[in-house]
Amino acid sequence: MKLETLRNLYVSQLQDIYNTEKQIVASLPKLARSASNSKLKSGFEKHLSETKNQVKRLEQIFQSLGVQPREETSKPMIGLAAEGQEIIDAKGDADVLDAALISAAQKIEHYEIASYGTILAYAKLLGDKESAKLLKASLEEERATDKRLTLLAESLVNRKAVRASGFSESDYTGRGSGGGLSLTTILLGAAAGAAAGILLAPSTGQESRRKLVEGATALWDQWGGKASKLAEAASSTVKQTVDEVAQDAANQAGERAGL
Ligand code: FE
Ligand code: FE
Repeated sequence: MKLETLRNLYVSQLQDIYNTEKQIVASLPKLARSASNSKLKSGFEKHLSETKNQVKRLEQIFQSLGVQPREETSKPMIGLAAEGQEIIDAKGDADVLDAALISAAQKIEHYEIASYGTILAYAKLLGDKESAKLLKASLEEERATDKRLTLLAESLVNRKAVRASGFSESDYTGRGSGGGLSLTTILLGAAAGAAAGILLAPSTGQESRRKLVEGATALWDQWGGKASKLAEAASSTVKQTVDEVAQDAANQAGERAGL
């Protein structure tokens, strides 16, 4: 590959995204068949028809540039497609598998967004206005697809996946109404503990920080993959740490007072 001019680079990047899109046209029906969630399935199907149109736009650009596109495998897509295939072949809970499909699809969308963003910038610099319009249209479709996937994951699929894994949503979001501490509560508790430690032991701030860090580290070590256990551990660890820091402060004050 010779890259002596920006036009060489422009054409080379166009070749890559062209081959990427063609690989995506082949992959999307498999992703759609593997999805259990009907919205995810129809989302993949919608993006398949958009992607076929994106291939046509690129062919239009090649025609206007007088370039014959080369058929070759896009190297970054080899890894991304392999990840998608691994999920398609995987066994497991339907909601967790849907979450995994979204994750793989979004990595591909982000690659496309980066590619189209760069190529569009080159098209503008090179004064290729007609191609820039076509590239912008595809870039907007990729961005919209990425946003739709995020929305579907955050509003539905990830929530169902978290329940399938035996966690309550409140363990993650802090918005549940059930009993027990949420992670938000733990963080607030830890922050309050840290603030209390510093306030209670102004002359031993370094020691307080050490204890708080030790407490947090022990907490992570003890976490056996269950958020409710983490919540319980956090509750007692923060309390224990604050008690210890307070005791240290009292001892220091006592020593200073000659007791
Ligand atoms: Fe695309
Ligand atoms: Fe796409």
